[in-house]
Amino acid sequence: MSIPRLPLKSLDDALAELLGHATTLTGVEQITTFDGDGRVLAQDMVSALHVPPQDNSSMDGYAVRCADVRVAGGVLPVSQRIPAGASGQGLQAGTVARIFTGAPIPAGADAVIMQEECEPLGDAKPDQGKLGSVRIKSVPQPGQWIRRAGEDVTRGAVVLSKGARLTPASQGLAASIGLSTLPVVRRPLVALFSTGDELVMPGDIAPEHMPAGAIYNSNRFFLRSLLRRLGCEVTDFGIVPDRRDATIDALREAALQHDLILTSGGVSVGEEDHIKPAVQTLGELDLWQIAIKPGKPFAYGKIRRAAAPAAGGDMCHFIGLPGNPVSSFVTFLLLVRPFLLRLQGGQRVAPVATAMPAHFDWPRADKRREFLRVRRNAAGGLDLFPNQSSGVLTSAVWGDGVVDNPAGRTILRGDTVQFISFVELMG
Ligand code: AMP
Ligand code: MG
Repeated sequence: MSIPRLPLKSLDDALAELLGHATTLTGVEQITTFDGDGRVLAQDMVSALHVPPQDNSSMDGYAVRCADVRVAGGVLPVSQRIPAGASGQGLQAGTVARIFTGAPIPAGADAVIMQEECEPLGDAKPDQGKLGSVRIKSVPQPGQWIRRAGEDVTRGAVVLSKGARLTPASQGLAASIGLSTLPVVRRPLVALFSTGDELVMPGDIAPEHMPAGAIYNSNRFFLRSLLRRLGCEVTDFGIVPDRRDATIDALREAALQHDLILTSGGVSVGEEDHIKPAVQTLGELDLWQIAIKPGKPFAYGKIRRAAAPAAGGDMCHFIGLPGNPVSSFVTFLLLVRPFLLRLQGGQRVAPVATAMPAHFDWPRADKRREFLRVRRNAAGGLDLFPNQSSGVLTSAVWGDGVVDNPAGRTILRGDTVQFISFVELMG
């Protein structure tokens, strides 16, 4: 049998094509703001109020009229006390207000003097309601220690945009404008399959009893976790049955209930396996050779649904990842991650790279764009994991990111390279 020559695709072209298929899922869920982390907003969130709602003090101290404090060392009576949560009265001229952080600035006051610069004279008589007087040791600047109303958010402003992926900080911001629930795109439903007759599940066979040629299924573990981190609901079907008809049945069944079927292994050129013909029988399949290392083979397809469920249309996406663990891992991060974020309506799907100095040499240029596993060192540079083979998963554990190295480029110690942190790629 002749091995088909597949077109070599650039990563950018592959990503653009893949994102072109990633129509945002229909279906919006209203979730509690507490559960927003990692989800993608389905609508713009507009603030119905200013944050903070009114001018307030950013210090414990005394609210004053600057006109009353022209020189340091003067003494003024305290006419009221305004703790956080209270609202004071207009500040009488020639007096100051005892005020605490977060308390509203009384009308007429135009500065706060921090308590460290004030000296109460000890003439207060709390039981008689007398607040005493205070010596003011510094001359205030108008506006000092006042947080202005609307300084964080103004009424009517779009605070969080449709397509934004929520973070803990955005949950806090949503809460600060009074939102107890948020509309987010529903979770993608993903069916995960592993392929390969050599695969054994940890726990099924002890290491000392592993038959020759068998290996543990490692991809299943990181793929399931990566999918979950991206907000997916995962049905893990384990290892694909090794018969054609059983594979077709399993995929047809999975397609009915899921938005994406993700497989690892069995997409190499010329490999005999059941997944490819099964997907072709049920829909369509494109095999790509992507010009990256690790991670060359990749498959994208669509499986037609016999019965179209209400939400999700009449097609289920299919993505086949390479089997080599590091290829599978890197390809997931570079292609499947943006695809899944876009399915949820995410706008910012590309990872951000940082320019950093290489503290290693990479003398052998490759024809393909490479993603080298590296780690930041204390000297502000990048160290390289010595074994960059696509089967060496240790490199992805030792490393804290990858260098995105263009095709044909060698690296000399001290060269500036593009570093993409795993934090960027795995969140
Ligand atoms: P394949 O893409 O199926 O040709 O597999 C390429 C290499 O990856 C082979 O050495 C497989 O044994 C290995 N491999 C495939 N799937 C897995 C998996 N789930 N876990 C670990 N290694 C795998
Ligand atoms: Mg295989």
